[in-house]
Amino acid sequence: MELREVYLDYSATTPVKEEVFQEMVPFFMERYGNASSLYTPGLDAKRALDHAREQVAALINAKPQEVFFTGCGSEADNWVLYGVADAYKEKGNHIITTIEEHHAMLHTCEYLEKHGFEITYLNIDEKGRIDLEEYKNAFTDKTILASIMLVNNEVGTVHPIKEMAKIAKEHGVLFHTDAVQGLGNVPIDVVDMGVDFLSMSAHKIYGPKGVGALFMRRGIRIPNFIHGGAQEMGRRAGTENVPGIVGFGKAAELARVNFDKHVSHCKELRDYLAEKITKEIPDTYINGDMENRHPGNLNVTFEYIEGESILLMMDARHVCVSTGSACSSKSLKPSHVLAAMGVPDELIHGTVRFTVGDFTTKEDIDYVVENLKEVVAWLREVSPLGPGKSWN
Ligand SMILES: *Cc1c(COP(=O)(O)O)cnc(C)c1O
Repeated sequence: MELREVYLDYSATTPVKEEVFQEMVPFFMERYGNASSLYTPGLDAKRALDHAREQVAALINAKPQEVFFTGCGSEADNWVLYGVADAYKEKGNHIITTIEEHHAMLHTCEYLEKHGFEITYLNIDEKGRIDLEEYKNAFTDKTILASIMLVNNEVGTVHPIKEMAKIAKEHGVLFHTDAVQGLGNVPIDVVDMGVDFLSMSAHKIYGPKGVGALFMRRGIRIPNFIHGGAQEMGRRAGTENVPGIVGFGKAAELARVNFDKHVSHCKELRDYLAEKITKEIPDTYINGDMENRHPGNLNVTFEYIEGESILLMMDARHVCVSTGSACSSKSLKPSHVLAAMGVPDELIHGTVRFTVGDFTTKEDIDYVVENLKEVVAWLREVSPLGPGKSWN
């Protein structure tokens, strides 16, 4: 089989699309104005920001004035947690979230816990789902925020955010969703969903790295996270990353226009990959729920071997896949998401995440599975574990 380069880690990041890159290019050299300057090049940059804000707002059915650009999705998550904790500390010190959030949420929650806040981490079941009764029962008169991710980044579970936001509202509690994995992959309408805050990131939707946004419902005031100048309607200081924001705007527009095509393309290839792997490689299991799932996500356990070894051997064959999430793959801790789903540690270590995207082809999938078959067979042969094998 001829050698190919195949990227199957679209949940870690995506390549910038050509149309997005072309929109950004003029803003590095010719159109370099500072959007806060009052002369013509400044106004030009300001207009470009306004346009990008409209494009991002349109993707989630928000008003442009409700979209604040940030340095990344992690900043948006941090801003909500610190901001609500600070603004509502007189009302209470309790926050509800889940055990399977991204580390941008979890590590910020841990920090708040050290400063007197109480966090309830909702469990997930063996398919990655949240129990709505457990959620309802978690509210107390001290609860100031509920934050539930829209789509999990490891196993792809899509949570019923509209229903959960409604329950928070009935308790008079603000609701945030980390929608970084959901953006462009599941329908998002902030009006219909009834959320107060929603985090986004450009580099997961074929935009550039280093730019994100927070949707904050009109009328809500929380303290700024970055202090300084009056950028972002006075809510987030720092000279705007004009090329990055312009790229985010274009990526959001493409995500909106191509939504149906993107979703069906990803689903088709993801399902093809799932079918081939489970048919052609024995002792493999798919983790998570095949319904209510990110259209490009497939999370697979290969029994008896290490996911890290698969990753490295596939890399040698020019295929990029990941173990767990990109953020935890440098630590040896088993995935907190799979652990919460009750997957035993030894099986978590044998787990690989594949995520397909717009540039993935059927030939890519065939190439990946052919190589996976060889890699898995070889690793199992040298593994001390396996059917009929024992340590002594
Ligand atoms: C990638 C990701 C983030 C972080 O976004 P950055 O822009 O990389 O900081 C947050 N939450 C989820 C669910 C993600 O997948």
